[in-house]
Amino acid sequence: MEDWYTRGENAFLKAYGRYDVVLEKGEGVYLYDTNGRRYLDFYAGIGVNSLGYGYPAYQEAMQKQLNTLMHVSNYFYTPVAIEAAEAVKKATQLEAVFFCNSGAEATEGALKLARKYYYLKHGQANSEIISFHHSFHGRSTGSVKLTGNPAYQKAFGPLIDGVNYATLNDIESVKALINERTAAIIVEPVQGEGGVYPCDPTFMKELRTICDEHDICLILDEVQCGMGRTGTIMTYFQYGIKPDIVCLAKGIGCGVPVGAFVANEKFAKAMQPGDHGSTYGGNPLACMAVKTVFDIIEKDHLLEHVQEISQYLIECLDKVVEEFDCVLERRGLGLMQGLVLNTEAKPVVKGLLDDGVIVVTAGTNVIRMLPPFIITKEHVNAFITLLKKI
Ligand SMILES: *Cc1c(COP(=O)(O)O)cnc(C)c1O
Repeated sequence: MEDWYTRGENAFLKAYGRYDVVLEKGEGVYLYDTNGRRYLDFYAGIGVNSLGYGYPAYQEAMQKQLNTLMHVSNYFYTPVAIEAAEAVKKATQLEAVFFCNSGAEATEGALKLARKYYYLKHGQANSEIISFHHSFHGRSTGSVKLTGNPAYQKAFGPLIDGVNYATLNDIESVKALINERTAAIIVEPVQGEGGVYPCDPTFMKELRTICDEHDICLILDEVQCGMGRTGTIMTYFQYGIKPDIVCLAKGIGCGVPVGAFVANEKFAKAMQPGDHGSTYGGNPLACMAVKTVFDIIEKDHLLEHVQEISQYLIECLDKVVEEFDCVLERRGLGLMQGLVLNTEAKPVVKGLLDDGVIVVTAGTNVIRMLPPFIITKEHVNAFITLLKKI
């Protein structure tokens, strides 16, 4: 495995701090390194692999599509892309879908659509966007500006203009930024990278009201928390509101790179041919993944399973919080959970990795758990045992 690691270090741009574990294959909820060592996966490729590894119905559908058609471009419809878009419409209860290839592209696209609506209304391209501190919306020069983390921005300017940051769950901080140029508010119902911070229900409702009153586009970034991870297909259904645009990626393809932004009728109408595009976006292979993921979530009752198993995980984590002084708090919804430590989370995550469990950090002092939906009580128990040990 050391050999592989050294070759990797010599071949890649050093954009990531990587662990010295080289992964080769996956099966169910387990990953295996090149030495054949097994790891219990409680991060699912950062919330992507909701079905774990080698889910039979998924493998079968993808293999079939690989042998049928992979790409045609967006000059043409394909039946599988239409089926995928219909599934996304049904799940989001919104009107029109644009497929892209990643979360960053989804938030970029949503931003462009909100700006286009504003442009049609005002005749000027001078809109402002409200985002939040600790948010994460991607790494392209537009989406990184939406991301409320100066460390990710400062070397790469000048970035896009007109983005201001409010404080999550502080509605006054939002109101203070609103003016006649405000085109959109973008928020994650549960902030992921920033530290697993769920929006308060009242805060989310107030955002919706403010956006309605001022004709502002409410963009929900469900790239990480959507697609069933929190126990409902979209997290916003738990808040009793609907966004104007929702951004999706990660779990929508369960391994195939694909993203989407989905708009309601009012905002969808602002987009015209030529306004936006993507060569790969929504190609038949990616769309087969999307369609199949929705099919499986429904047929195999995975939302019900997520609700049940996450309840068990939450109970176990709450006991850990009670038992250990170094664990300050648990935060999260469904299978998107964070444990807040009184110390840096990185060494703990590394210790768990050495013991054969994969989790990730969020912020500096939060252990973030994003397990595949297919975990069982036995997996949770095994995880908690190792967590307590570390
Ligand atoms: C991961 C993530 C993104 C960016 O997705 P990429 O596919 O890495 O571009 C955007 N928003 C949220 C909430 C995310 O978690």
